[in-house]
Amino acid sequence: MEQAEALDIGQIREIVQTVVETMRKSAPLSPIAAASSLESDALREEIIRVGRKLWQRQYVDGNGGNISVRLGNQYVLCTPTMMSKADMQPADICLSDLDGNILAGDRQRTSELMLHLEIYKANPAARAVVHCHPPHATAYAATGTPPPTGYITEFELFIGEVAVAPYETPGTRAFAETVLPFVEDHNSILLSNHGVVCWSDTVSHAEWLIEILDNYCRTIVIANQIGKPLQPIPDDKIAEILAIKRRLGLPDPRINHASTIEQCGSAVSNSEIDRLVVKVMERLENE
Ligand SMILES: [Zn+2]
Repeated sequence: MEQAEALDIGQIREIVQTVVETMRKSAPLSPIAAASSLESDALREEIIRVGRKLWQRQYVDGNGGNISVRLGNQYVLCTPTMMSKADMQPADICLSDLDGNILAGDRQRTSELMLHLEIYKANPAARAVVHCHPPHATAYAATGTPPPTGYITEFELFIGEVAVAPYETPGTRAFAETVLPFVEDHNSILLSNHGVVCWSDTVSHAEWLIEILDNYCRTIVIANQIGKPLQPIPDDKIAEILAIKRRLGLPDPRINHASTIEQCGSAVSNSEIDRLVVKVMERLENE
């Protein structure tokens, strides 16, 4: 008869730790646990702060606009329908799964959550989405034309080329899917005859993109009234901006045309690009 070998206390501890670790990794967080987690509390506060900023900047009107953020891999926190973005409280924020089913929260979710979910499913880099109706960018959306590129450094760096999604009735699946061809290479999309949608790594950064986009559209409209032709940033300097974007992982369809960067023959060294990347990262992290 075989005698079982006795385990010492160190081996037992190791086994217990392995089992706990495996359970922690494999066990999905329940909706109730997710909705009441510290991470969820912090994200709700961020959504509320950003909602107030959107309202103060007049980027949302009536109950318009919506904000969402991914919570872990399974859930999304989003703004409720029929509520001004200036008046939200933590309890108003809904918890949804990636199919749009509400799992926690008393209010009904925004009808445009499907648009946000399509973006999350299509691009894992998108962790937060903001949709709103800022007047200058929405004016471009009403013309079905993106703002021109190549005139303001900040805009080139953080956004660059803006996509224009075709018109569909808001709230429908067809509407949500209009952005799909663009979400890989663009973090900012004009929704024809409607508004804009931007995605980023955090809710605050997605709201920054909205500000940068609307401010740029306003600047171009004003510049066109001066009576002098706009003066573009030289191609080789655009190539330097694209090199920084590539290093930062910021999307831009021009980066995929690698030859664009090489043909322009950037005069700036790699170490100089590194220094500029660090500067931008510091700005992003100080939010
Ligand atoms: Zn809208």
